[in-house]
Amino acid sequence: MSSQLMVSLVIPVYNEEENLLLLIERINPVMQNMNRPYEIILVDDGSNDNSLSILKSLTVWPEVKVIALVRNYGQHAAILSGFSIVKGDIIITLDADLQNPPEEIPRLVAKMEEGGYDVVGTIRKQRQDSMFRKTASKLINMVTRKITKVGMTDWGCMLRAYRRPVVERMIVCHEHSTFIPALATYFGKHITEIEVSHDERSGGISNYPLRKLINLQFDLVSSFSDLPLKALLYGGIGMAVGGICFGVILAIARLLYGAHWAAEGIFTLFAILFIFIGLQFFAFGILGEYIGRIYREVRKRPEYVIDKVYASDISGNDQSDKPGIYFSPKSYRDAM
Ligand code: UDP
Ligand code: MG
Repeated sequence: MSSQLMVSLVIPVYNEEENLLLLIERINPVMQNMNRPYEIILVDDGSNDNSLSILKSLTVWPEVKVIALVRNYGQHAAILSGFSIVKGDIIITLDADLQNPPEEIPRLVAKMEEGGYDVVGTIRKQRQDSMFRKTASKLINMVTRKITKVGMTDWGCMLRAYRRPVVERMIVCHEHSTFIPALATYFGKHITEIEVSHDERSGGISNYPLRKLINLQFDLVSSFSDLPLKALLYGGIGMAVGGICFGVILAIARLLYGAHWAAEGIFTLFAILFIFIGLQFFAFGILGEYIGRIYREVRKRPEYVIDKVYASDISGNDQSDKPGIYFSPKSYRDAM
C-alpha cells in the first residue's frame, strides 16, 4: 500500500437485503484499484429484513466494519454513527441501493486531493428518479442555497466526500433531525462539486414515502434556518394589514351602497374567514414542528444508539457476536 490518505466509506442500510452483495461486489474492485488503505463502514439502521445478517457475513473482508444500531433512527443519524468510528482521512458517504455508482468514488477522491477541498459535493447527471421527486428537489435545492448561502447545485445526492476534520466537527454537534450535506457547509471552508452518474435503485423499494420525504426536507430547512418562522411573522403582518384594508373598503362600500349590500356580502366574508383559519392552522403546524424539534433536543436523548460493532480485525470479534457485548465507538477505536 502507498502512503496515500486512507479512505473511509460510510453507507447507511435500511432493509437493503437485495442490494448488499452486489454493492460490496462493486465497491471492492473500485477500492482495491485505488491502491490505498480503505475501510467500508456499513450501518444497519434497524432493518427488519435480513440486512444485518448479510452485513455480518461481509465482515470476512478485513476492510468491512458493520455497525448495528438499536433501532431505526433515519438515514442521517445512521451516517453520523458511521462517522463516529471512521479512521480514514477522506470520508465518502453513499447509498446502499446502488443509485450512487461506487465507480465514481475515485473521481471524488481525486477532486478532493487535487484542489485541497474540504467537501466535494455531487450533481446527479440524468437523475433516475420520478418526475415528482426531481421537481420537488429543484425547489428544495433553491431553498437550501438561500438558507446555507452556499451555491451548491444538488443537495440531495448523498455520494459526497468530506475531510476528516469536517466529519469530526459534525459529530460533536449532536444534532437531531439534521441534514448532513448542509451541516458540512458549516464546517468546511473549501467546498466544490462534481457531476456524477445516477442509477435506478438496484432492488427493493425507496425508504422515503411522501411523509418521510416531507419530514426530511423540513429537517433540512428547520435545522438551518428560521425562515419559515420569519415567513409566518411577515405573512401575519401582511394578513393583518390586508384585513384592515379590507375592513376599510367594506365600511366605505357600506356607506355608499347601504346596509342591504353589506348583508349580501356575508358569504364572501365566510369564504375569506375560512382562508384565514386555514392559514392559521398552517402556521400552528409550522410552530408545532419547531417545538417538536426543540423538544427532541432538550430531552437530550442520543441521536442514535450503537448496539454492536462487527469487524474481522477487532480484538475479540467473535465475542461481538454474542448478545450484550457492546463496543462504544471509543472502545472500538481503542481496540483497533
Ligand atoms: N436509509 C436509512 N435509514 C432510513 C431510510 C433510508 O439508513 O430510515 C438508507 C437506505 O438504506 C439507503 C439510503 O438511506 O442506503 C437512501 O434511502 P433510499 O434509497 O430509500 O432513498 P431514496 O433514494 O428513495 O431517496
Ligand atoms: Mg435510493
